[in-house]
Order: sequence, then C-alpha cells, then structure tokens
Amino acid sequence: MSWPTAHSIKALNGFQVPCNVERYYTIAKANQLLDIDFEESFFVLGQGTNTLFIEENIKSNILHMLETGINILDENDKEVYLEVKAGNSWPEFVEWTLYQNFYGLENLSLIPGSVGACPVQNIGAYGVEVMDLIHEVKGFSIPQGRFISIAHDACEFTYRNSIFKGKLKGKFIITSVVFRLNKTFSPNISYQPLRDYFKDSSGFTAQDLAQAVIEIRQSKLPNHKEIYNCGSFFQNPIVSKDKLNQMIDRYPEMPVYAFGDQYKLSAGYLIESCGLKGFTLGNVSTYHKQALVITHNGLGNGREIYEFSEYIIREVEKKFGVKLHREVNVVGNV
Ligand SMILES: Cc1cc2nc3c(=O)[nH]c(=O)nc-3n(C[C@H](O)[C@H](O)[C@H](O)COP(=O)(O)OP(=O)(O)OC[C@H]3O[C@@H](n4cnc5c(N)ncnc54)[C@H](O)[C@@H]3O)c2cc1C
Repeated sequence: MSWPTAHSIKALNGFQVPCNVERYYTIAKANQLLDIDFEESFFVLGQGTNTLFIEENIKSNILHMLETGINILDENDKEVYLEVKAGNSWPEFVEWTLYQNFYGLENLSLIPGSVGACPVQNIGAYGVEVMDLIHEVKGFSIPQGRFISIAHDACEFTYRNSIFKGKLKGKFIITSVVFRLNKTFSPNISYQPLRDYFKDSSGFTAQDLAQAVIEIRQSKLPNHKEIYNCGSFFQNPIVSKDKLNQMIDRYPEMPVYAFGDQYKLSAGYLIESCGLKGFTLGNVSTYHKQALVITHNGLGNGREIYEFSEYIIREVEKKFGVKLHREVNVVGNV
C-alpha cells in the first residue's frame, strides 16, 4: 500500500474535474485493507467513470482499487466460474472472455470502468444486465472487520441498483467478483439496433455481436477520454400506468418500455423534448447526439456540472411532472 499522500484525482475521474484529496491510498492487494483506519470517512474509487466530485478539496480517504487477476474457480461442460479482481478493467475483461470462448458478456462490451464497480450499479446495456452473470461478490465488510462473500440473491440487484449502492454503501469494499459464464453462445439481440444490425446475417459469432455493440456505442456515445463525461447522467425514470396514460395523450410518440407492472421512459427523450439536446451553459453541455450524456470541456469544475444537472432536472419536471434521478455518483456536499 502506498503511504497516504495528498493527490490530484483530476485524471482519475470521467469528467476530469479538478479535485485534490488529502489521503489517497492505492490498494494493490486486498489484505492491505486490514491496515486502514475505517473510523475516518473514505471513498472507494475504481476508474471514476461514474463519479462526479463536486468539491475541489476532499478530506476523506480515497481507496483506489488496483488489484488485478483472473482465476478459474470451477468449470463443467456448460459453464465456467471466474473470480476477477476489482482492479481489472471491465472492457478488457469482456474482451478476454471472448478469446476464451466464455459467453454472456458480449452486450456489455466497451462499458468503461473497473470490474469492482460493475455490481454497484448493476451495469447494463443492449438488453443485458451484469447481475445475470454474477454468481457472488467478495469483499471487506467494515462493520465486521473481515472479508466476506455475498451470494447473488443477497446482492439486491435491480435496475441500475444493488445493495452496494444501498444498505452497504460505505460499509463494503468489493475486492473481487465471481462470474458464471456460459460455454455455449446464446445471443441476445432483443435490442432493436442489434436486430437491425444483424437483419441480413444468416449466422454470427459472439465476436461479431461484441463488434456490433462496439460500433453502435461508438456511433452514439462520446469517448470519455476525449470528450469528458460519465455516460448516462440520469437513470431512465420509472412511472405508474396512471402517470403514463396522462403523458401518452400529450406525447404519443414518446418511447415507453414495460418494466414489471410499471413503465420505463427514456430520460434522453424527456431532456431532448425540453429543447436541451446539445445545450451548453459555461463549460458544460448535453451531448449533441445523446441528451442523456452531460459533457465537460475540461475548464470548469464539479460544482458547475452539478448545477447544470439541477437545471435539467427542474426543466424536465416543469414540462413532464417527472423527476429525473442521477445515475452518476455525486461526491461532496450538495
Ligand atoms: C462513455 C461512457 C459510457 C457508459 N456506458 C454505460 C452503460 O452502457 N451502462 C452502464 O451501466 N454504465 C455505463 N457507464 C457508467 C460506468 O462505465 C459504469 O458505472 C462503471 O461500472 C463505472 O466503473 P468505475 O470503475 O469507473 O466506477 P467509479 O466511478 O470509480 O465508481 C462508481 C461507484 O462504485 C463504487 N465503487 C467502485 N469500485 C468499488 C469497489 N471496489 N468496492 C465498492 N464500491 C466501489 C464507487 O465508490 C462509486 O460509488 C458509462 C460511462 C461512460 C463514461
């Protein structure tokens, strides 16, 4: 473990906002967690691609999870169980599984970030959520002062949420994730752009599917290393049937997705309908190809991005009576 030092984490967050932390620890081996004083507040950092730091100076400990490695725990003719350390890069891990002919993660190709963060918001894209492939999550329980394992059913996974964002927030540090992947490729092309992509194909491989996902993503989303962003800034709102009925009369073209006995709306559509696609205030904008993505030109700060997101929430609520919730984790006093 590095000695805690004052450190700039500007390069370690998707928005590239200026932020200095007083005590920054790199965790290269899980056992180093036993030496940390958890009486003081702390924040666990993966690759910062889903985190907005709104203060320029942070007093809490930052634990930067850097341990990497992949182990095959078990396998049979149909499945393989892989334990992957928190510090592995998510997109590189997905690519590795494809080379090994382990299937299930194709639709989650190119999502930035670390493996340790993937269960936190139950990352998802193109009809697949990572919870479908997670067998258990291992980590350090701060209240218990020891390493424990949390089985899939106890992770409380829902849309962009889990126990790690809820009850265990600030209490559990994920050190590795155990995945159960398939040895037979069974494509999920339920998402319309994927159906369109493969409409003339008679057959395709998992690599083809991953490539399709990568191409579609690259055509719609900015690369966060070039145009600073954290992907979708807001969650898609979930509404009741009554609320939907009120809205659909006025906005019949509005995209709607069934979600249990409720309905999921497109946050991007709502923002765009307020005339806020490609909208700029100071150093912050909504992306011109996808209003759900907030971008930063690198000259502002986290507070400015937060205020911009507040403005969007107010405008959408005024027009539609629907409150948007942030998907991005906000760190600092709001
Ligand atoms: C261009 C772009 C596209 C994106 N597309 C998608 C998408 O399609 N689908 C999707 O779901 N997300 C998407 N995201 C969001 C982001 O990629 C994911 O949320 C990713 O999992 C974040 O990983 P990270 O390591 O950067 O997390 P960080 O931002 O470092 O952390 C995110 C949260 O997880 C916690 N955390 C991180 N590591 C640990 C750990 N080891 N133990 C406990 N808590 C931890 C942090 O404290 C924080 O609360 C996108 C982001 C970008 C920039």
